[in-house]
Amino acid sequence: MLAAAVLCAAQESSQPAKAQENHPTAARPAASKPAPAITYIRAGKLFDSTSDSYRENVVIVVEGERIKSVESAASAQVPAGAKVVDLSKATVLPGLIDCHTHLGARADRYDPINAFKETPYTHAFAAEKNARTTLMAGFTTVRDVGSGPFMAVDLRNYINEGYIIGPRVVASGPGISITGGHGDLNNYSPETSVTLFPTERNYQIADGADQVRHVVRAQVKYGVDVIKILATGGVLSKGDSPGAPQFTYEELKVAADEAHMAGRKIAAHAHGAEGIKNAILAGIDSIEHASLATDEDIQLAKQHGTYFDMDIYNDDYLLGKAIEFGLPQENIDKEKMVGRIQRETFQKAVQAGVKMAFGTDAGVYPHGDNARQFATMVKFGMTPPQAIRTATQNSADLIGRSKDVGTIEVGKYADIIAVSGDPLQDVTVLQNVGFVMKGGVVYKDKLAGTAVTE
Ligand SMILES: [Zn+2]
Repeated sequence: MLAAAVLCAAQESSQPAKAQENHPTAARPAASKPAPAITYIRAGKLFDSTSDSYRENVVIVVEGERIKSVESAASAQVPAGAKVVDLSKATVLPGLIDCHTHLGARADRYDPINAFKETPYTHAFAAEKNARTTLMAGFTTVRDVGSGPFMAVDLRNYINEGYIIGPRVVASGPGISITGGHGDLNNYSPETSVTLFPTERNYQIADGADQVRHVVRAQVKYGVDVIKILATGGVLSKGDSPGAPQFTYEELKVAADEAHMAGRKIAAHAHGAEGIKNAILAGIDSIEHASLATDEDIQLAKQHGTYFDMDIYNDDYLLGKAIEFGLPQENIDKEKMVGRIQRETFQKAVQAGVKMAFGTDAGVYPHGDNARQFATMVKFGMTPPQAIRTATQNSADLIGRSKDVGTIEVGKYADIIAVSGDPLQDVTVLQNVGFVMKGGVVYKDKLAGTAVTE
């Protein structure tokens, strides 16, 4: 993305259960608090994402915001008068996870003039709308990897407070860039700049190990969950080449070490082979895009357990609609250079057994269309269950949240979606998610007819 800021993953904030908010219990001692609400979800087919197949006819018991048990319908005890969500004709899955979004970005803003017109507020308003759209599409967790300082952190916090509606957000700050790199404003007059925080260079531009260390620490200081660094040129920037490395191995190593020291994961944007190799060797947790990865990079990723997070759907949008929205010729040419090769690289990486997460670069194309990528993943070598598991179990692992999200298992957040149809036969049914529960609260229900929190 241009100068999009990054969102970090949501901290373990408790999602306020709206059903409990109106109880007149404020004055009561804690010991006499009413027991958390219990909901029984009847699932006709359950893809819990711990295996490649369904369980049939189960009851998921949700207590408060977490899953209390998963039982066969035949033996489950559902008391009379209990709250039941009847999804017995639907397919139930864990809430989906997208590890590469830009919630503050709009997919109809490609004219370069926007770099001088947009404000932190325009991005925040867009993010509020996009967060809701993303949740309603069945994505109950996203990693936001690039936004202005520190929009994603605020967004995460507002969602966690229950003030606005959206997915759990793993928030980054701006993607950290070299001078003249993918995150910088290039090729204008030297008298032109958009700088909100001059001494910190927008928490974004860093040259040399010390500056990289400082910017990572500064981002951590303001509450990011994850660091995003730009290890090669990009498609949607001016004056740089997607294949060319940006940052040296030493700089990337400092970034990775600092991030890990602070208990944060680090994601590297990297299209070109040398940048990918440097990032893997530096200990970075995920390679975003990975478009031009060589066989050597693929083997290195395997050895190091590095995730590839490949946005292989959005090429169709960038070379279609985005051109109508003013995408400059330079960016079109660069997308043509990397977009198609990226899909072949994806196929090779899948065959080689590289760990794969699910990341779409939503914001580059319209938010809410995240699930369109499943069909592209299947077209380029994944089985449907494999593709779905990238967006559940694998992505939860990449963001370090496996104990809370990613599968339907006892103790995890009740982040649960449902679709009609059979996604293991046809992954495109995931483009029409009819039921969305996050943290035990129902946000959308076109399938079972339960009351919805809005
Ligand atoms: Zn991106």
